[in-house]
This record gives sequence, structure tokens and C-alpha cells, in this order.
Amino acid sequence: MDASFESSTLLSQAFCECYTPEMIPGTKIAPDPHAMLEVAIEQARIGLAEGGVPVGGAIFKLDGTLLGAGRNRLVQNGDPSMHGETDAFRAAGRQPRYTDLILVTTLAPCRYCSGLISQFRFRQVIVGDSVNAQGGMERLKAEGIDILDLASPECIEMIGAFQREHPDLWNECVGEG
Ligand SMILES: [Zn+2]
Repeated sequence: MDASFESSTLLSQAFCECYTPEMIPGTKIAPDPHAMLEVAIEQARIGLAEGGVPVGGAIFKLDGTLLGAGRNRLVQNGDPSMHGETDAFRAAGRQPRYTDLILVTTLAPCRYCSGLISQFRFRQVIVGDSVNAQGGMERLKAEGIDILDLASPECIEMIGAFQREHPDLWNECVGEG
């Protein structure tokens, strides 16, 4: 491990203090979409337990190497810019390119996060739930970005229940307050 990688790992941990051992950046998991989504779901569960908006994200290389994971921390950090996708993006640190990376999110990326995905041209977006929000999915598809929608019952139930129980927080999170 060279010095620059080590410092970027430490920086990632500062952004996201709740890594479980199997979620440390650099960990390699099976390059299976469901296994990758599980890492994002774990982040959403942590967010829910913290009283936050339960949306998690993770960024992987194609071979299953985890580069970073994160979750919406609007409530926890008082930071409306910290969506699951953007938190994972920050946790992953600097990358030479994104065209060979996979971004995983428990909920269809909002238009804000879709802008990030579009700008950095991720290879693929794995989505857990596109029932409770569609965000910028159509725009991304129109741009030719590969979207894999896993329609995860857990993702659909978790954010659906949150939207029903905390409509004000949900609306704040997506700028519709
Ligand atoms: Zn977003």
C-alpha cells in the first residue's frame, strides 16, 4: 500500500465512521449485483438506526473491490448535500476514472445524484428501489448509462415506510419541502 492510498483510506474513514470490517475500502467481494447492493443496504440500515433518511450507496470496481460506501446523512450531519451516492463518492476519494466503476444505491438516484453519475460517466448503476422514487433514472437511461434495477423488497419497504412516516424529512431530502 503506498502512502497516497493510505491517506485516502484514512480520509474515507473520517467521512464515514461506521465501517464494519467487511466494508473497509479495498475489500473485495463477489462481483455479484445482489452482494454489492447488500453493502449499500447495510449503510441504509445504519442510517435508519441513526434516525436518518435510509438511503445507502457504495462504489465498486468491476471485480468487486469496494472503493467507498456511504449513506444519506442530512439529519446526522445537518448536511443536505450528503446523499447515499454523494457520501459514497466522497468516501471513495480520488479515482483516475469512473467509466469502469459501478455505483450502487438503495434508491433510484435523485436528479442531483444523477447529475454526478452523468458527469463522471459511471459504467453502471445498480438500483435497489425505483418504486418509491424515480429521480433522474430516465435521463440516465437516455444518456446510455447502464441501469440495473434489482427491485429489492427490503429497499422498497425501507424507504417506502420512511416516506410515509416522515414526509417532511423526505421532502427536505429531495428539495421539495
Ligand atoms: Zn441524491
